Amino acid sequence: MKFEDLKLSPDVLRAVADAGYTEPTPIQELAIPYVQMGRDILGCAQTGTGKTASFVLPMIDILTAGRARARMPRSLILTPTRELAAQIAGNFETYGKYHKLSMALIIGGESIVRQVQKLDRGVDVLIATPGRLIDHFERGGLLLNDVKILVIDEGDRMLDMGFIPDIERIVSFLPKIRQTLFFSATFPPEIRRLADKFLINPKEINVTPPASPAEMVDHFLVPAGMREKLAVLRRLLSAEEVQNALIFRNRKRDVDVLANSLKRHGLSAAGLHGDMPQPKRTETLRAFKAGEINLLVATDVAGRGLDILGLSHVFNFDVPIHAEDYVHRIGRTGRAGRAGRSITLALPEETRALAAVAGLLGHPIPEMAVTGLD
Ligand code: AMP
Repeated sequence: MKFEDLKLSPDVLRAVADAGYTEPTPIQELAIPYVQMGRDILGCAQTGTGKTASFVLPMIDILTAGRARARMPRSLILTPTRELAAQIAGNFETYGKYHKLSMALIIGGESIVRQVQKLDRGVDVLIATPGRLIDHFERGGLLLNDVKILVIDEGDRMLDMGFIPDIERIVSFLPKIRQTLFFSATFPPEIRRLADKFLINPKEINVTPPASPAEMVDHFLVPAGMREKLAVLRRLLSAEEVQNALIFRNRKRDVDVLANSLKRHGLSAAGLHGDMPQPKRTETLRAFKAGEINLLVATDVAGRGLDILGLSHVFNFDVPIHAEDYVHRIGRTGRAGRAGRSITLALPEETRALAAVAGLLGHPIPEMAVTGLD
């Protein structure tokens, strides 16, 4: 199928072609016609499947008809992290470049005054993290009764981050008659309950079985003792011809320790976690995407949803505590048809976490040997 076969406007098609995409991904092919029909969608999809464009493209056309009024956004996209919010905004900019839609990003860590000014001018698309959105609502700077389309992205991550009560509150402020698009990579019972509550006769779309790793990723396990992990990682970084890699750690404080250690060894590394000030996060991410930094050490929250084209490797310096995070982590590479590699370093005491990953995958992670260690 070609993009032209989807009933998108010529201006959206032109922007898609400018971005270099010719064929819709499976979720785009399946979801776009239903979004255009005004149906609710329950999408089971990970990042990396092209799910953002599956709602952004039709939304641009739908929102082009009509005008925004002050403080009354016409669509609302809720996302768990600021990085993901910025990424969705980037998609609206890329695909909406021939349109005049106005957009506001309501995320923590940035000037509330500037956000208020933006809302006052009226926005077609409001992209928000839940906490900051509630702040604005409570200050009276925002009315949600004109929202025609609601998107909830990464539902399972919202659950992990404790945002479900906030989401339920926000949705209670929205009109009952609206179109709702709900995406999640997995559907634990709490997410099912929310979907049942928020959606009316949704079209269910499932592009990869829940929690199956990206097909294009070769992933391996290297058992290592605590003292060996750093040496093993450094050995792998040279042996694997790593161009750029995300290196995951479970805890924020360990992110800086590892990033500093890699820097001391002359490697081009930086850390990314939720305790860093927002401008620093944005700048670090920019530098990594621009190739000025090759290694980004991150926590799950910071690394979730990062859209980095051509990421060659993902390393798990710690085995993730939640098995589902394994799938999300390794899915950062091997995106949109490119091959990727992922290597997990595991301590003997991480056996339980590894067993949970193996249970989720249906098989253990294949082991690989590392040679040439000093
Ligand atoms: P997402 O799942 O929305 O995070 O998108 C994952 C990656 O796929 C992003 O780098 C997109 O730019 C890319 N992408 C989105 N749509 C397409 C498409 N139709 N063909 C190829 N790549 C795409």
